[in-house]
Amino acid sequence: MDKTSIYIDGRWLDIEAERHVVTNATTGAAMATIPLAAAEHVDQAVRAARHALPGWAEASPESRGRVLQRIADGLQARAAELASLITAEVGMPLRLSEAIQVSAPIAAWRAYAELAARPQPGRIVGHSTVTREPVGVVGAITPWNYPLHQVTAKVAAALAAGATVVLKPSEIAPLSVYVLGEVIAESGLPPGAFNLVTGTGMEVGRAIVEHPDVAAVSFTGSTETGRRVASLAAQHLKRLSLELGGKSPAVVLEGADLVLAIKTTLSSCLLNSGQTCNALTRLVIPESQLVSATSLIRDMLAKYTVGDPMDRNTRVGPLATAQQRDRVLRLVADAIASGAPVIARGRSGDRPADGFFVEPVVIGPVGEDSALVQEEIFGPVLVVQTHVGTEDAIRLANCTPYGLAAAVFAQDDDSAAAVARHIRAGQIDLNGAPFNPAAPFGGFGASGIGRENGEFGMLEFLETKSVQRRAPR
Ligand code: NAD
Repeated sequence: MDKTSIYIDGRWLDIEAERHVVTNATTGAAMATIPLAAAEHVDQAVRAARHALPGWAEASPESRGRVLQRIADGLQARAAELASLITAEVGMPLRLSEAIQVSAPIAAWRAYAELAARPQPGRIVGHSTVTREPVGVVGAITPWNYPLHQVTAKVAAALAAGATVVLKPSEIAPLSVYVLGEVIAESGLPPGAFNLVTGTGMEVGRAIVEHPDVAAVSFTGSTETGRRVASLAAQHLKRLSLELGGKSPAVVLEGADLVLAIKTTLSSCLLNSGQTCNALTRLVIPESQLVSATSLIRDMLAKYTVGDPMDRNTRVGPLATAQQRDRVLRLVADAIASGAPVIARGRSGDRPADGFFVEPVVIGPVGEDSALVQEEIFGPVLVVQTHVGTEDAIRLANCTPYGLAAAVFAQDDDSAAAVARHIRAGQIDLNGAPFNPAAPFGGFGASGIGRENGEFGMLEFLETKSVQRRAPR
């Protein structure tokens, strides 16, 4: 599967460029190539987006909503193909990809279609009318772990707000985004409102952030790259949203349902082989419950067999890249070499020999200075910390620079909510409550700036304007 073009101004443009090989995570074999575009292509795309801006910004809410619904319909028609492409690139088991990597983003396109169709009347504040208007051209830069979801959280929200977009997806998992481009090309979206430029972060990503006509940059990726993007964006004083890494705690208090807590935490931690930014990767339990927790973890981990992600019984597939696998294995080996105890290791079933597989591992208890506690690993690794009471548990929950997500398990929801008030994280689930795709998603501290999803996600792409009259209306 060789992709030779990028999508600019409503047309697929064949470009002469160096090529990037997209690898199948399960076999380690090449599965596609994509072109690595250059800064000049970004300039072309930004010009197209700028040209399309007034028309799209002023289109009626209903017509914007209709176009976004058609994009959702187009993605729905290609849902099976999208799920297998993402499973091949990223390694998430197909059964989970269908629901999480594909159905969820399609639902998000539909939710943004509804938000787009809703008129945004001005609000009267004294003698001012306060309106929100599209921010301008949005530069969107996304990672590989939930490729269609992350693109949707930016592109659908920006289009719903009436902004236009230049997108650079991750070169590691770009294929679902090509499908999105093909769907958009048939959707009736005006040419230039959405542009896709594939390439490296250093060339295409950088050119997007530095382009004077990009009004807002929305970046999802690692905290390290986020810092680089923020400092570049600061030179140009751009609107900036950053969705970055995490090291999210599951805090278990005395009186909580320990079985529910461990089941929920393992499931979150091992989803997508641990390559999930808001994964619960630290289990913070009462010291007095270490023995019972250890035995529950051993029993439950045995059910997470690593295998071929195309097999419907597989719960844990490979990691996305060899580099990611090697990094995870090194961090785990270093921690064990420095004395961290292994509580349990997962097993592998039948699986191809050359994929980027890593067996899950649960390690602990370790102190809060351990690299396993402080560093985002982005692999199937759960670390256990112990606390001696609620205050200590809250202190440990907040002991990293990150603050993306957390979970609290307590005797009842009210006691859990009382503890959640003291945890510095953007999303906190009480007693195993499920994810809410309409709720704002984003981080405190090193986990980023701004929020995505639902109407809060749209606000990132709207500017606020106050217009004063001489007397109130
Ligand atoms: P990454 O930071 O390496 O890359 C992210 C994107 O930035 C890619 O498209 C990359 O090409 C681009 N990029 C790289 N250097 C750049 C530069 N100098 N200027 C502009 N763009 C540049 O991240 P990744 O490895 O693709 O993704 C994994 C990371 O993403 C993890 O840390 C994870 O926690 C984080 N993540 C966060 C969220 C969230 O919502 N908070 C969601 C998913 C992933």
